[in-house]
Amino acid sequence: MELRSQGMSDTGVLSAIERVPRELFVPEAFQDQAYENIALPIGAGQTISQPQIVAEMTSALELGPRLKVLEIGTGSGYQAAVLSYLCRRLYTVERHRTLAEEAEARFQQLRLSNIVMLVGDGSEGWPAQAPFDRIIVTAQAAMLPDVLLGQLREGGVMILPMVEKGRAQKVVRLRRTAEGVEKETLMDARFVPLLDGLPPVE
Ligand code: SAH
Repeated sequence: MELRSQGMSDTGVLSAIERVPRELFVPEAFQDQAYENIALPIGAGQTISQPQIVAEMTSALELGPRLKVLEIGTGSGYQAAVLSYLCRRLYTVERHRTLAEEAEARFQQLRLSNIVMLVGDGSEGWPAQAPFDRIIVTAQAAMLPDVLLGQLREGGVMILPMVEKGRAQKVVRLRRTAEGVEKETLMDARFVPLLDGLPPVE
């Protein structure tokens, strides 16, 4: 209801959000805040995004039931769960094994059988499964990620938070066309950084 009143009118996205119990994706200590429109900590210094940002980024991705989608930064798995209702198959990559394992358990509990997970460095994408129709990055990149763009099908769309030199963080939409890449700036954002490599042994 709150997302609707904030202007979100994409009914497909709203119904996917309605189907995902957010309390399952936040630590017990924050469960009473699971339905507030705020980001919350999930461990390993990471956060589950604000529902409004999840809704807006999902809507901007122009999903469809036949599409193959790559997410970088599984985190709690909440965004992945929402995406999984709106695409054919979701591939998601997380660099923290502990977060990945917790997310995987949630996908099983919710019987989300069209999500495939990889523990690894998402900056490298998922070459074995490329190309993708859609790519969503849920950690902030410092530059245009050429490797990921290379795994995006022509006509495909990629959404990511980015910081351009000296500017505030913004969510941008990249569209891969026959001629190259089109870029649009969509909204303000506050994501944790996309880090290189894997964390020290957990
Ligand atoms: N989509 C998540 C929120 C993501 S927070 C949710 O709905 O809960 C950003 C996540 O990106 C964190 O879990 C962080 O560990 C992960 N991350 C950061 N850099 C990464 C990288 N290079 N590869 C894969 N995951 C990365």
